[in-house]
Amino acid sequence: MHESQGHFPVRTNWTREEIQYIFNQPLLSLIFQAAQAHRAYHDPSEVQMSTLLSVKTGGCPEDCSYCPQAARYHTDVKGTPLLNVQEIVESALKAKEAGSSRFCMGAAWREVKDNVHFDRMIDAVKQVNAMGMEVCCTLGMLNKEQALRLKEAGLHSYNHNLDTSPEYYDKVIQTRTYQDRLDTLEHVREAGLNVCCGGIVGMGESDADRVGLLHTLATLPEHPQSVPVNALVAVKGTPLEKQEKLPFWEMLKTIATARIVMPASMVRLSAGRTELSAAEQALCFMAGANSIFTGDKLLTTPNPDFNEDATMLQLFGLKPRPAFKDQNQEAPMANA
Ligand code: SF4
Repeated sequence: MHESQGHFPVRTNWTREEIQYIFNQPLLSLIFQAAQAHRAYHDPSEVQMSTLLSVKTGGCPEDCSYCPQAARYHTDVKGTPLLNVQEIVESALKAKEAGSSRFCMGAAWREVKDNVHFDRMIDAVKQVNAMGMEVCCTLGMLNKEQALRLKEAGLHSYNHNLDTSPEYYDKVIQTRTYQDRLDTLEHVREAGLNVCCGGIVGMGESDADRVGLLHTLATLPEHPQSVPVNALVAVKGTPLEKQEKLPFWEMLKTIATARIVMPASMVRLSAGRTELSAAEQALCFMAGANSIFTGDKLLTTPNPDFNEDATMLQLFGLKPRPAFKDQNQEAPMANA
C-alpha cells in the first residue's frame, strides 16, 4: 500500500454520521480532500471513457419516476426492439475508434429472462469482449446463474443502480424494492463481475438522502468498482418532469464525498453532463470524478458529442484510460 493511501483507507464500516460529516465540510476543504484521495489511488491525468448504447429502448413495465423508457409514461421516446448482434458490434467498433475503452449496453427490461433475447446479449458480449473493450451491461434484475453466464461470456461489469437512499427510494419507484436491487448486486458480485452502481441526484431528495445513498454503497460487502453519479434529466411526460434543478454544488459535494468514502473506485460523472459548463466539469474532475460517458446520447437523453469532449479533455490535460487497466495496474500513481 502506498503511504498516501493510509490517509484514505478502503473501508466498508462507515457510519452514516461519518459520511454526513465529510459531506458537510466547507466545500473547498471537501474538494481538496477528495483530490488527495483521488491521487492516492488513481492517475489523476486519466479519465475512463465509456460509451453507452441502448440495445432495447422503451416499453419497460417498471415505474421509475425519472425514466422516459417506462411504458406507463407518455414521453417522446420511441420504443425499439432488441438490436441484432451485428448492429451492436458496429456501434462498439465506432466507439472504440473514437477512444472509448468500455462499451455498455442497456436494455429497458425489468429483469433478464432466459430466452432468445438473453442468448443474443450473450453473443454480443462475447463479440465486443473479443474486440478488446471492457464490456458492461445493464439489463435489469438478474439471478446468480444469469450473472455467471454473462461472466463466462466475457462480461467485465454489470450496472445496477440503487438510485437513492433506502428511505427515499419508494418516493421514486414502487414496482420493485430496494432489497430486490441489493439482491441483484449480490448475484453480480458473487459471479465475480465488477459492480457498477450509483444513483441519481436532483429527484427531490434531501442532503441526508444523498448521504444515505453513499452510505449504502460504501458499506456493501465490497465497494462497487464503478460509481456513477447522475444528475436528474427531467424528461417531459415523466412524474419528475417539473422537478426543480438541483444546484450544481450538491452534485459536486456528492462526487467529492463518493471519492473519499470509496477511494479506489471509479467515480463516474454520468447523466446531466450537457447541463454542466466546462468549468463545472473541471471541478468534478478535481473532486475525483474519473470516468465519463462519451457519445451523443445516454440511452435516450442528450450527452456532449465526442469532439466537444476531446477539446475539453485536451484543455484539462486529461487522457483516456486504457481498457483493463484495473487488471494490469500494480501500483497506483501517487504523485502523478
Ligand atoms: S430505469 Fe430501467 S427499470 Fe426503471 S423504468 Fe427505466 S428502463 Fe425500466
